[in-house]
Amino acid sequence: MSAPPDRIDAQTPREGDLDPDDWEAFSAEAHQALDLMIAHMRGLRAQKVWQPAPEEVRARFQAPLPRQGHDFAGLIDEFATSILPYGAGNTHPLFMGWVQGAGTAIGMVAEMLAAGLNANCGGRNHIAIDVERQITLWLAEIFGFPPEASGIFVTGTSMANLLATLVARTDALGENVRGQGLLATGRQLTGYTSQEAHGCIDKAFDLAGIGASFLRHIPVNAEGGIRLDALRAAIARDRAEGLAPAMIVGTAGTVNMGAFDDLDALADLCAQEDLWFHIDGAFGALCALSPELQPLVKGMERADSIALDFHKWLHVPYDAGFFLCRDAEAHRRAFMSSGAYLSRAPRGLAAGDIWPCDLGPDLSRGFRALKTWFTFQAFGAEKLGETIATTCRIARHLADLIAASPNFELCAPVKLNIVCFSAKGENSGALNRAIVMDLHERGLAAPSITILDGKPVIRAAILNHRTRASDMDVFIAAAAASAERMRGQGIAAFQQPDIDQGDID
Ligand SMILES: *Cc1c(COP(=O)(O)O)cnc(C)c1O
Repeated sequence: MSAPPDRIDAQTPREGDLDPDDWEAFSAEAHQALDLMIAHMRGLRAQKVWQPAPEEVRARFQAPLPRQGHDFAGLIDEFATSILPYGAGNTHPLFMGWVQGAGTAIGMVAEMLAAGLNANCGGRNHIAIDVERQITLWLAEIFGFPPEASGIFVTGTSMANLLATLVARTDALGENVRGQGLLATGRQLTGYTSQEAHGCIDKAFDLAGIGASFLRHIPVNAEGGIRLDALRAAIARDRAEGLAPAMIVGTAGTVNMGAFDDLDALADLCAQEDLWFHIDGAFGALCALSPELQPLVKGMERADSIALDFHKWLHVPYDAGFFLCRDAEAHRRAFMSSGAYLSRAPRGLAAGDIWPCDLGPDLSRGFRALKTWFTFQAFGAEKLGETIATTCRIARHLADLIAASPNFELCAPVKLNIVCFSAKGENSGALNRAIVMDLHERGLAAPSITILDGKPVIRAAILNHRTRASDMDVFIAAAAASAERMRGQGIAAFQQPDIDQGDID
């Protein structure tokens, strides 16, 4: 009897694996799938922004569980007819409704490469962890943080803001809070953010157990930035009542208007009051990549932590949020835990000091760093910053068109890339709603509605690297035509019950 070989080999008969029976045929089909998506991306400008899925298509997704497999080529066809045409449209140049990224061809392929590797980035000794660490280093460089700063990919800024709240909470109350709970500390934390801040910060306070009502929403000035006098007063009031102010959440780029808080002033205040300074920079933080926009984020380099998304203005395919924390030790203290299966070894696959699972709630996690790495490498930081600045220029062009239009008027200063405007005249709120729905349904453009000063207004957030300045002329002409049609149908035709709760995208 010969000894078994010391390596497995290809000759061993298969026993029920999930690999293709015919790799050649699979390769041809996989190339077709890739070509399908490349053709789709190339042809976007000729497509409708959005169309609703017909009932018969929706019904296809109420099918019983497939007991037997279907062939791959047929499934790609089904994808092409039943899924591909009915997306949300955020890849399209005239999608402007919400702050969403458009994706890139490079990002798409990087996502496929990551899926092929199927890396689990919870930890252990493999190169994907280094790639994630590389992104942390690059962000530290972009934002002026020390290279020892700590960072982790998460789904999005909502999650990153939650991580920030948990780190600030543990920093304020001590590590015991993780075992004993908030009640045992005998202290009620409070936090401060502006009225224009994103709703996910309330949720973070809720989920962290602090209570959403202890996040104070401070009024904003005419520019949409947090009012420092009101902020100081709120902190003093809470201290006087025996509460424990713990953190300020500044916003770099609000969803409604693209406004920036005065980050330097917030950094000063946090230093004076000994508060954690977190910045929700979901999309606006990356203004740091553009020399032209950089002044807006002055003071960001003094934050304790920053939440941001690569899937918005950098167009990394969903999802790719990030939490960056200046004090690596504080970050670790909030999440590190032990488990025998997570024990570290001095060598081998279980080696490594800090694993991503020590820096957040997730254990198993995908390789979001790879598509982000490809994006930075393929385009370079300068071009990415220039693309961001270009969208702001296009937003200003749109603002100029609105200012010159007989039909529309601006509703807020255009600080960045977000333009809020309204039809002129009576009942404009209801008319704005009707225009937006009409544009969506005709597949021409996808702005959204937001509420400013209690009135529904049309919002166009220009993020898309595919959007061109001349597209704004087309957009305004289409909106004017919609306004005309809606007016023609009479006010009753477009008046809707007021169901909008404001926007949280
Ligand atoms: C988009 C956004 C969020 C939420 O980010 P997600 O990635 O959707 O979780 C939070 N804050 C601001 C300012 C945003 O623009």
